[in-house]
Amino acid sequence: MPFASNPLRRFWATTPLLVAGIAAGTFFAMNSHSAETTSPRPQGSAPKPENLKLATFGNGCFWCTEAVFRELRGVYGVTSGYTGGSVANPTYQQVGMGVTGHAEAIQVEYDPKQIGYADLLEVFWKTHDPTTLNRQGADVGTQYRSAVFYHDQEQQALAEELKEKLDKSGAFNASIVTQIVPAAEFYPAEGYHQDYYAENPEQRYCQLVIVPKLEKFRKVFADKLRKDEPETTAEAPQPLPDELPPGTDFSKVDWKKLLTPEQYRVTELAGTERPFQNEFWNVTEDGEYRCVRCGQLLFESDSKFESGCGWPSFDVAAANGAVVLKPDNSLGMVRTEVRCSRCDAHLGHLFDDGPTETGQRFCINSASLKFKKEKQAAPK
Ligand SMILES: [Zn+2]
Repeated sequence: MPFASNPLRRFWATTPLLVAGIAAGTFFAMNSHSAETTSPRPQGSAPKPENLKLATFGNGCFWCTEAVFRELRGVYGVTSGYTGGSVANPTYQQVGMGVTGHAEAIQVEYDPKQIGYADLLEVFWKTHDPTTLNRQGADVGTQYRSAVFYHDQEQQALAEELKEKLDKSGAFNASIVTQIVPAAEFYPAEGYHQDYYAENPEQRYCQLVIVPKLEKFRKVFADKLRKDEPETTAEAPQPLPDELPPGTDFSKVDWKKLLTPEQYRVTELAGTERPFQNEFWNVTEDGEYRCVRCGQLLFESDSKFESGCGWPSFDVAAANGAVVLKPDNSLGMVRTEVRCSRCDAHLGHLFDDGPTETGQRFCINSASLKFKKEKQAAPK
């Protein structure tokens, strides 16, 4: 949807198998099967705690925004749908024509003990452009409006307060036009829209996400975000297994002993850490990103760019041969896995939608990396 003015046409064009499935009347069976096998999100299968709360956001194409929220710790469900309009049970086609008044929206079920509403607002405002009225990228129409649909006075107050602060901070180049309005009836979208991104990972959703000026953003949210939450950052400082004796056979090293549980899960078990809750996703300092296991230089800060995905992203590897690429057909997706050529640590995945001339986006887990700041130049 952020990639074509007629998202439906694109949808049909890019998912022939899915269409065939729908045509054959087998889609729902197919979908429930793939939901089981393609979901990398542990919270999907975890029992839901009691007293979950709802948050509802309109932030453009729900195919894209659903995926972002789904990855957050403390989020137990994300539903794509329509809200804020005048017609009951609208269809995607009706909403897409812009005549029902509905916004494409997502409804998030979250555990306020694990993730605060301010955290959700932060992700909401960071991952779409709240300064363009009724428009997200190429998607134009009131159905793509930026909106917070609050469920109680606390949510309303927090949203208004942070919107005002963000506006004053200059985190965006223009005023924020996000509507803050009471939540209305929410209509879940048709089944083929749910979990769209996980089902269709080739969609280039990261590329067009507009990212605000992050330091200003963080100042606004500084006192609203809990600090004790992400275990990946709490695990730093990291051990230095690259100081293993020369000639060590990396295939025989007991990584479990040398790494934190998160580093082990990512590098050895090819796990994926949470976006926006990892150590290096928004680090902009100059320096080198080395393999957390063997210390090999993998990426330089010059190649790092803000992709909006919530993981460190690079447009090129540090040197030929630093990383090896392998086809990865796990989780029902066709992706290219990136590994360290020296110790075979799993690092992340490579996508071909990078914004620079290389066209590459190395989407790398922070847990696979350690960062060495560039040394200050010696005074002359
Ligand atoms: Zn390595």
